[in-house]
Amino acid sequence: MGKHTGFIEYERLPQPEREIEKRIKDWKDYTSPPSEKDVQLQGARCMDCGVPTCHVGMEINGVTTGCPLNHLIPEWNQLVYEGKWEEALIRAHAKNNFPEFTGIACPAPCEGACVLGINEPPVTIRSIERTIVEKGFEKGWITPNPPKERTGKKVAVIGSGPTGLAAAAQLNQAGHLVTVFERDDRVGGLLTYGIPEMKLPYHVVERRVNLLEEEGIQFLTNTEVGKDYSVERLNEEFDATILATGSTVHRGMDVEGNHLEGVHFAIDFLHQNTKSLLDSDLKDGNYISAEDKHVIVIGGGDTGTDCLATAVRHNCESLTQFDIYEKKGVERDATSNPWPQYPIIHRVEYGQKEAAHKYGEDPRAFAVMTKKFVGDTSGYIKEVHTINVRNKYVNGKKVREEIPGTEKVWPADLVLIAIGFQGPEQQLLHQLQLETNPNSTAKAAYGEYKTNIDGVFSAGDMRRGQSLIVWAIHEGREVARECDKYLMGETDLP
Ligand SMILES: Cc1cc2nc3c(=O)[nH]c(=O)nc-3n(C[C@H](O)[C@H](O)[C@H](O)COP(=O)(O)OP(=O)(O)OC[C@H]3O[C@@H](n4cnc5c(N)ncnc54)[C@H](O)[C@@H]3O)c2cc1C
Ligand code: SF4
Repeated sequence: MGKHTGFIEYERLPQPEREIEKRIKDWKDYTSPPSEKDVQLQGARCMDCGVPTCHVGMEINGVTTGCPLNHLIPEWNQLVYEGKWEEALIRAHAKNNFPEFTGIACPAPCEGACVLGINEPPVTIRSIERTIVEKGFEKGWITPNPPKERTGKKVAVIGSGPTGLAAAAQLNQAGHLVTVFERDDRVGGLLTYGIPEMKLPYHVVERRVNLLEEEGIQFLTNTEVGKDYSVERLNEEFDATILATGSTVHRGMDVEGNHLEGVHFAIDFLHQNTKSLLDSDLKDGNYISAEDKHVIVIGGGDTGTDCLATAVRHNCESLTQFDIYEKKGVERDATSNPWPQYPIIHRVEYGQKEAAHKYGEDPRAFAVMTKKFVGDTSGYIKEVHTINVRNKYVNGKKVREEIPGTEKVWPADLVLIAIGFQGPEQQLLHQLQLETNPNSTAKAAYGEYKTNIDGVFSAGDMRRGQSLIVWAIHEGREVARECDKYLMGETDLP
C-alpha cells in the first residue's frame, strides 16, 4: 500500500480538461495531462485492498463491473506513488496490449467497482493508467519487441479494431506470421472511425500500429475480405483465421419520415467527419456538416455524446439530445444499483459540457420518444415530432407508456440517429457458412471462440454484440490463445 492515510488525505483529481471555450475551436484532445506529482498522490489514494474488486471484471445485470482484463491495478497504483514509472508500465502491459486506448476511452468499470467508492470518490484508475503509458512513450521505454522465433504458421485476422489488433499482437508474439485485413483506408476500427479525434486522437492509434508493424505484423488496408480478397484464397493461404469484423449494422428507427434527407446514422456522421479531418483538415468537404443547422441527436449514450461534440465544433445553430430514459439521480441507488455494480447515474460528459457552454443549457431532453419525422416539399427534414414517455417495469419486463398531452414539435435540419447497432454484417458470415446466434452475432462460445468452421475463430463485437474497447482487447487476447492452441497443440499465451 502506497500511503496508509492517502485515501483520507488526498481528494480525487480526475484527468484535467482543457478550457471549453478554447477546445471547441479545434479537434485536439479535449483533456490535458495532469502533473506527475498529482498522479502520484492519486496512486496514494489506493488502499491495496485484500480483495481488490477493481481488477475482477464481470457482468452484473448486463452491465460490466470491474476490469475485464484483470489489470494489476493495486500494484501499479503503489508503483506510481513510489515514482517507479517504468515498473508500473510493465504491470500496465502485463494484461493489456494497449493501455493507452483504455486509459483514454474506457468508461472505467474498475472505478465503479473500487472499494473506496463505497463511501468516497474512487481512485482515478483510468487517468493513472493513461499517465503511465504516456510516460512510457515519452521516455522511449515502449519499443518494438519482435518474437525471437517464427513458427511458420500463418494467421489471417479480419478487422483491425481493438479485437483484431489485440489478437494480432498476441499471435505475433507467439511467433506466427500475422496478416490483418482492413476494409477501411486506416487501421483501428471504431478507435479510428467511431470515437472522434478530440476524444481518442488518431496519432495514438497510429503510434501503436507502427510498433506492431515493426514487430512483424502485416496490415492490408482497403481490403475487404469476401470482396477484394476471396474466402477461398483465405482458406488456401492461411492456417487459421480470426474474424473480428465488429458489430456494424445500425439500429434504425421504424418511424414515418426516416428516409428524409438530413436524417443520418450517427456513425456515418462521425466516420465521414474523422476521415475528412485526417485527409484534408475538413477542406475536401466530404462530410455531413452541422454548420448553422438545428441538430437533433437521438440517443443518450456515448455515440450521441460524440455527435454533440462534433456538431458543436461545426458551429451548429442549436443542439438537442433525446434520451429515451428519465434523468437519473446523481448518486447510485443503493437498492437497485449497489456497489460494486457500475454506477447508473446522471453524468455530464464532455459533449454535454461543451453544448451547455455554447448554447447555454444541457442539450438533453429526457424520457422523449420520437413519433415521426416531417419534411419540407423538397424532401428535407424540417421537424421531429415527439411525445414524453414513462419507463417502468411490470412483472420484471420493461414497459414504456406514452404520456398524453406531452406531444412536441422540434425544428430540425439535421437528425443523427445514435441508438446502437443490431449486430455484425452478414455477407462474410454467409460466404463462410458460419453459424450465427438468433441476434445475428457469430456463434462461438465465450472462452473458446471456435466457430462451426474448423480453424475459424470469432471474437469481439462480432461475437458478443456492441460492447466496449476493454472487452474487445480481452477477447482479442483470449482468441489468440485459443488459436495458438489450435495451431500448436499447446500455448504459452496468457
Ligand atoms: C461512436 C462510438 C463511440 C464509442 N466510444 C467508446 C468509448 O468511448 N469507450 C469504449 O470502451 N467503447 C466505445 N465504443 C465501442 C467500441 O469502439 C467497440 O466496442 C470496439 O471498437 C469493438 O472492437 P472490434 O474490434 O470488435 O470491432 P470494430 O472496432 O468495429 O472493428 C471492426 C473492423 O473490422 C473491419 N471489417 C469489417 N468487415 C470486414 C471485412 N469483410 N474485411 C476487412 N475488414 C472488415 C471494419 O472496417 C472495422 O475496422 C464506441 C463505439 C462507437 C460506435
Ligand atoms: S478497489 Fe480501489 S482502493 Fe482497492 S485496490 Fe482497487 S483501486 Fe485500490
